[in-house]
Amino acid sequence: MAEVSSKELYEFKKTLKELSEKRGRGTELVSVYIPHDKQLSDVGKHMRDELGQSANIKSKQTRKNVQSAIEVIMQRIRLFKQPPENGLVLFVGMIPKGGPGTEKMETYVFEPPEPVTTYWYQCNNVFFLEPLEYMIEERDTYGLAVVDRKEATIATLKGKKITIVSHLTSGVPGKHKAGGQSQRRFDRVIEDAAREFLKRIAVHINDEFLPLKDDLKAVVIGGPGFTKHDLVDADYIQYEIKDKIIATVDTSYTGEFGIREIIEKSTDLLNDLDVMHEKKVVQRFLGELRKDDGLYSYGEEEVRNNLVIGAVDTLLLSEDLDSMHKTFKCPTCGFEKKFTVKTQSEADAIDERCPECNEVLKEVSSELLVDYFVDRAEEMSTNIEFISTETEEGMQLYRAFGGIGAILRYYVGH
Ligand SMILES: [Zn+2]
Repeated sequence: MAEVSSKELYEFKKTLKELSEKRGRGTELVSVYIPHDKQLSDVGKHMRDELGQSANIKSKQTRKNVQSAIEVIMQRIRLFKQPPENGLVLFVGMIPKGGPGTEKMETYVFEPPEPVTTYWYQCNNVFFLEPLEYMIEERDTYGLAVVDRKEATIATLKGKKITIVSHLTSGVPGKHKAGGQSQRRFDRVIEDAAREFLKRIAVHINDEFLPLKDDLKAVVIGGPGFTKHDLVDADYIQYEIKDKIIATVDTSYTGEFGIREIIEKSTDLLNDLDVMHEKKVVQRFLGELRKDDGLYSYGEEEVRNNLVIGAVDTLLLSEDLDSMHKTFKCPTCGFEKKFTVKTQSEADAIDERCPECNEVLKEVSSELLVDYFVDRAEEMSTNIEFISTETEEGMQLYRAFGGIGAILRYYVGH
């Protein structure tokens, strides 16, 4: 799967939100999900069937709209030889802009950030977005294992979902008290069996976690005894996974209960990973700020200017930034003036007149400041980091720098 940047994910979330607000007048919005390996000729055949069946739709208007939507879909898929790597998603339908007769055909065709797994066709008064929403829900996966001498359970945690992927038992015999020569021999047998068990656990961990690649964010190993340390210290786990082990945790149980214990005990630890990344980014920015010729910029004006000349390496945007750009226009001569406001009521309170005609200026368009900055950053291939206000650093970015900061590519003077 192609790597999806935070910028692409942001754009994608934005599109999803826009699509979720669209409503058809009847059940006439068509959604189609096509997996990569689906033959487009089969999809075309299915669309012709649907077109035939739509003749039974009672409402003349709905029937006409469904049929036009299906025809658009048939035209669009003809442009592809086969679906792209992650498949193809199409949303087509007549969207009303106001009262009856204001409907306009809207068409959205894109390759989603994750593979489409199931073929779907749906006709409803809303677009069918659940599979896409599921894709962006939670991508990060944590690998967990709870081990002792007798058994091992391996699981993944994705969002709130725990999946037990493997359970093994050792067959290592218990302690034996024979004493003397036979005791030592027996101890060695046990030792060998225990080592074999560690190897088996590691093989399963490697098999389950390696394919997750970058989605595997961290690994936590737990268990009641010392086996977890033996497992971590031994060289049986592949280094790519070993590097991601962030903790070993004592648990009272093994098995699924043990897995749940690990999660309970490492919640803070796992949350910290995201937070750590955010802190690091803001600290880099603050570090530049302390230098005389620091590569920093902040505030709406200054960052915008640096963005458009391509001087910004990393753009820091506070997640709490909800300011909007408002364009006001004179209804008579078309004179325009832009305002940045924090709330709609602030915009409503704007009472300015045209310098030419003395007419009251009217709001004609509105754009989130964040969207504006993301678009500019996109044009300049600038990295974007969204920073929450959960950390002291994030709060500082929001409060002291207006939620907009930049680490620059080169020094521009201050
Ligand atoms: Zn005017």
